[in-house]
Amino acid sequence: MSKIIIIGGVAAGMSAAAKARRINPNSNIIVYSNETYISYAGCGLPYFIGNNVRQIDHLLARTVEQFFAQNILVKKACQVLKIEPDQNKVLIKDLQTQQKFYDHYDKLIIATGARPLIPELPGVNLPGIFVLRNITDSLAIKAYLEKQKPAHLVIVGAGYIGLEMVENLLDYPGKITLLEKSSHIIPNMDNNMAAILSNYIAKQGVEVKTDINIIAFQGQDRVEQVITNEGVVDADFVLLSTGVVPNSELALSAGIELGIRNAIRVNEKMETNLKNIYAAGDCCTVKHLVTQQEAYIPLGTTANKQGKVAGENAAGGNSTFKGVIGTGISRILAMEIARTGLTEKECQTADIDYIVSDIKSKTKAGYLPHANDIYVRIVAEKKHHYILGGQIIGYPGAGKRIDVLAAAITLHATIEQLIDMDLAYAPPFSPVWDPILIALNNF
Ligand SMILES: Cc1cc2nc3c(=O)[nH]c(=O)nc-3n(C[C@H](O)[C@H](O)[C@H](O)COP(=O)(O)OP(=O)(O)OC[C@H]3O[C@@H](n4cnc5c(N)ncnc54)[C@H](O)[C@@H]3O)c2cc1C
Repeated sequence: MSKIIIIGGVAAGMSAAAKARRINPNSNIIVYSNETYISYAGCGLPYFIGNNVRQIDHLLARTVEQFFAQNILVKKACQVLKIEPDQNKVLIKDLQTQQKFYDHYDKLIIATGARPLIPELPGVNLPGIFVLRNITDSLAIKAYLEKQKPAHLVIVGAGYIGLEMVENLLDYPGKITLLEKSSHIIPNMDNNMAAILSNYIAKQGVEVKTDINIIAFQGQDRVEQVITNEGVVDADFVLLSTGVVPNSELALSAGIELGIRNAIRVNEKMETNLKNIYAAGDCCTVKHLVTQQEAYIPLGTTANKQGKVAGENAAGGNSTFKGVIGTGISRILAMEIARTGLTEKECQTADIDYIVSDIKSKTKAGYLPHANDIYVRIVAEKKHHYILGGQIIGYPGAGKRIDVLAAAITLHATIEQLIDMDLAYAPPFSPVWDPILIALNNF
C-alpha cells in the first residue's frame, strides 16, 4: 500500500489529499499541518473581520473528522522540520508535546503555502501591527479592534487584501489611511483604472496616499505612528498587506530547486526536481500562459487546482496543470475590480507591441434603475490582434465580465473573433451592446 505524506493542510494540501483518495482508495494518506485550523477559506478572512461572516467556523470547509471518515489522517499542530529525500522520510515536531519523530513516504506533496512579507523596519514588532494570513491572525485582529477601538487605522499595501480590508474596516470607528509604495493603488492594474478606484475609495472617507515609503513604526506600549517619506501618520492599528513570501525553505534545504521569487519550481505534473516529491499552491511557481514565462501568482483558485493535480499524480494518476493568465477579482463596497492577462505596463516590460481600448459604459440598460458605470480596458497584440489582457472596474455586475476575456485569452482569440461573440442581452443585465463588445469595437 503506497503512502502519501502531505505537508500543509489548507487549499492545496487538502485538495491534494481529497483527490489522491478518490484516485486510489487504498493509499495511506497523512497530512501534517503546523496550524490547529485546517481546510479553511483564507479568502473569507477579511469578511469575518468585517462581521460579514458571523462565525469563524463558517470558513471551515471540512473538519479533521470529515477527512478521517474518508480515511485521510490529518495531524494538526505538527511541523515538518526536515525532508530527507534519500531515505524518503520527513522529520516532524509535535508542537503540543514537543516530541520529534520520523515518518516515511512513498510520495511527498509540499503544500506549505506562503507567509506575509514583513518589512524589516524599526518598530515593526510593536503591538497593534498585524498581518492577515490565517484564522489565528483574523481572530487577533478582530479582538484588538473590538477591545482597543483604534481611532487611526492604517493599511500598508493596496493590493487585493489591503483593499478588501478597507471595505471590512469601514464599519469600525476610526479613520482609515491606505498607504501604497507604488505610484497608484492596485499595482497589478494600469494607472487609469486604479485612479477610478482611488477616487471611489476617497469618497468613502478613506485617505489614500501613494508613492509612500515607510521608514519606521513608533509607539510606547503599542504602535502610535507610522513614519514615512511624506511625514508622520497617526496609527493605533496597522495592517501590513505588502505581499507574501513562499514557504520554500524546507524544500530548499532538501535540495529542491527554487524558481522565480524563491518559489518551488514545478512542472505541469506538479513534480519538483526530486523524484517522488511534488509541490502545489502558494509555495510554488506557475507558468504564465501569455508570456510563457515562469511566474509567481499565489491565489486560492490556483492552489486548489495545483493541489488536485499533485494529489492525482501522487496517487498514480496522470494529470497536468497548464498554467495561469493572472485572472483576479475583488470588491470594495459597491465597486468591483477585475483583471486578466497582461496590463499595458506588463506589455511594456515584456517588450510586446500592443494596442489599447478604454471605454466607459453602463452595467445594464441606461433607462433602468441602478444602471451604473463600468469601465473596460482591453489590451491586444498590435500585429495579429490577439487579446492579451483585460481590466474592468465598475458597479455590481461589472467584475465577472472579466471571464469572457479570460476565456478569449486562454483560447488565443483575436479582437475580430471576439467581436462576433453572441453575448447575452436583456435590459437588467447589459446595454444592447455589452461593454466588452463596445470595448472591442473601440479598437
Ligand atoms: C486575506 C486573504 C484573502 C484572500 N483572498 C483571495 C481571493 O479572493 N481569491 C483567491 O484566489 N485567493 C485569495 N487569497 C489567497 C489564498 O488564500 C491562497 O492562495 C491559498 O490559501 C493558498 O493555499 P495553500 O494551501 O497553497 O497555502 P496556505 O493557505 O498558506 O496553507 C499552507 C499551510 O501549510 C502550513 N505549513 C507551512 N509550513 C509547514 C510545515 N513545515 N509543516 C507543517 N505545516 C506547514 C501553513 O501553516 C498553512 O497552514 C487570499 C488570501 C488571504 C490571506
